Amino acid sequence: MAKELIRLVGCTMEFDGETILNSIDLSINDKEFLTLLGPSGCGKTTTLRIIGGFLKPTSGDVFFDGKRINDIPPYERQVNTVFQRYALFPHLDVYENIAFGLRTQKLPEREIDERVTEMLEVVSLKGFEDRKVTALSGGQQQRVAIARALVNRPKVLLLDEPLGALDMRLRKDMQQELKRIQQQMEITFIYVTHDQEEALAMSDTVVVMNEGIIQQIGTPEDIYNEPRNAFVADFIGESNILDGIMREDYVVETFGRRFTCLDKGFGKDEAVDVVVRPEDIDIVPVSEGMLTGTVTSITFKGMQYDVIVDFKGFKWLIQTTDSPSVGERIGIKIDPDGFHIMPKSKYSGLYGDYSSFSEEYEELSDADFVPGEEDGEEEWHED
Ligand code: ATP
Repeated sequence: MAKELIRLVGCTMEFDGETILNSIDLSINDKEFLTLLGPSGCGKTTTLRIIGGFLKPTSGDVFFDGKRINDIPPYERQVNTVFQRYALFPHLDVYENIAFGLRTQKLPEREIDERVTEMLEVVSLKGFEDRKVTALSGGQQQRVAIARALVNRPKVLLLDEPLGALDMRLRKDMQQELKRIQQQMEITFIYVTHDQEEALAMSDTVVVMNEGIIQQIGTPEDIYNEPRNAFVADFIGESNILDGIMREDYVVETFGRRFTCLDKGFGKDEAVDVVVRPEDIDIVPVSEGMLTGTVTSITFKGMQYDVIVDFKGFKWLIQTTDSPSVGERIGIKIDPDGFHIMPKSKYSGLYGDYSSFSEEYEELSDADFVPGEEDGEEEWHED
């Protein structure tokens, strides 16, 4: 069974009377790859700095291996940090950059050599020992920074947007590399990013944050497939988010029509948010559609087309390999597992309409469509 290594209990951080972190509870396991994900300013770095010991929470406790460590300074914690700006020593070569921490501990030369050599292998920089770090690419410099942090054999590595400065292609390669290094070294990585794709690709556990509050904790699959509220659904991947009412278990009503879904346990007639992912919608002939709409724009994305469809003023995003034409009437079909039901939250109504994708944005601003009260029944077809 996974062993807990770090626990934050009710951690609150205030700066100048403003609450930046609001009573965070978080448990991190040994050897876990955990990512703090959220928009700029949501408190990710602050959380990381509390774990690293660079900040003391205004209230709440931090535990490491069961011991309270609020008052333990950073250098006495079994934690090391890799920052986005690598802060390598420009006058030293690769070898000496990695060896630096070991030299300050005055370890014997043989041990230094063994450990630096091991690290060069782990980060795939064998043969680069004598290079000046200024003569390395961004990705290679990042590897040196990682080797330098790992050579001290921390139990936990904190990584704050470490790939932020790299171009897209290199970023993808380094994501795989980091995951491999984490597994090979068998240590805990706590990773900060605002890039949801990166978080999904690398993590065992994703912690979605917004406004200083943890919105959801789960595996990448959980977070994507079962978002807990409209913020998470919108932030992770693309989502159409509709107003709905749970009429009974497995039956959700939206746009005045009832659909079969897989969700249960809501109150009878409870108002809910309904998420439909763009890839879960099939385009079918109008006569076979559960509902019909008009295509307002199409964008070729390589793997698929992004199609915006207007359903009585509410614009949906559909991702499909079909390519209907702009202005065409289409039908759509959604399987029961394509509906994800979420309780209403403070984020309801803020996200999930793709109007701004559409050329008809202007027109939409005067649409007064209210789901369930529309007149245009002909727009809808029962399944
Ligand atoms: P980013 O991705 O932009 O780094 P983040 O989620 O990591 O965002 P934090 O760096 O944790 O966000 O900052 C959260 C909020 O706290 C921000 O509004 C920031 O301005 C504020 N903040 C952070 N450190 C301090 C400080 N030392 N004094 C005052 N305010 C601070």
